[in-house]
Amino acid sequence: MFKMKMSFSKITTFEQCPLKFKFQYINRFPTKTSPVLLLGQTIHSSLEKFFDFSPEKRELKLLKNLFRREWKIERNKLRDEGDFEMDKATEIEHGKRGLIMLENFYASQLMSEPVQREQFVEASLNDEIQFLGRIDRLDKCMHDGKEGFKVIDYKTGKLNDRFVDFIQLFTYAWLMNEQGFKIYSSVFYYLEPNKMIEKSLNDEIFEQTRNTLIERSLPIYKAMEEDDFSPQKSALCPYCDYISMCPLQTGEIHI
Ligand code: SF4
Repeated sequence: MFKMKMSFSKITTFEQCPLKFKFQYINRFPTKTSPVLLLGQTIHSSLEKFFDFSPEKRELKLLKNLFRREWKIERNKLRDEGDFEMDKATEIEHGKRGLIMLENFYASQLMSEPVQREQFVEASLNDEIQFLGRIDRLDKCMHDGKEGFKVIDYKTGKLNDRFVDFIQLFTYAWLMNEQGFKIYSSVFYYLEPNKMIEKSLNDEIFEQTRNTLIERSLPIYKAMEEDDFSPQKSALCPYCDYISMCPLQTGEIHI
């Protein structure tokens, strides 16, 4: 029996479409980058590098310059690799959005010193599944007079209150709790609207999170054992990076 490496994005990709999961995580066919993804990646790397500087040097001008530098490096790399096009108007639009996000960040309470940044962590869900995640940030916090920690996840996409995935938030907290940190809360920070969504945590929520992750990972485990990854058509197909090789779209399979 193999020990499967699982992540939250693997679960959501499989739930959208098992064949897409196979293309992305088993065949490892490359995914496409978009200006939106470039923006998210650049904001994350700028914020990570910002805290490498000593507190007295952490000015808004530095943060914006880091963003501009990271943006150029990533954009040029993607262009050199081919398959990435972005016209000037799109670049200006996304660049402006990024700078507004950083202004919001600079005025927020998150200018305090993080305990950890951009950490890859993993923990055992059970004997068969190892769960992996990347934690944007860990901060100290107080809860009922006791010192503990909070997990923070930066969000650079639009905020739609109806579609906030709290299990994702609980998963990052569970992962850090498993590393031995006493986690009292978990926060999604949406940079563009400058809004924080915070959830308090306890042992019961961690146990429920573990059980939910096992439940949602098991169909993937089964599909891998049986090598059965059927395509699943949905409204998201037009945005799928593998649409040109999908048998549902090429007419090899009819549903
Ligand atoms: S186009 Fe749709 S059905 Fe085909 S692989 Fe992509 S998500 Fe799945």
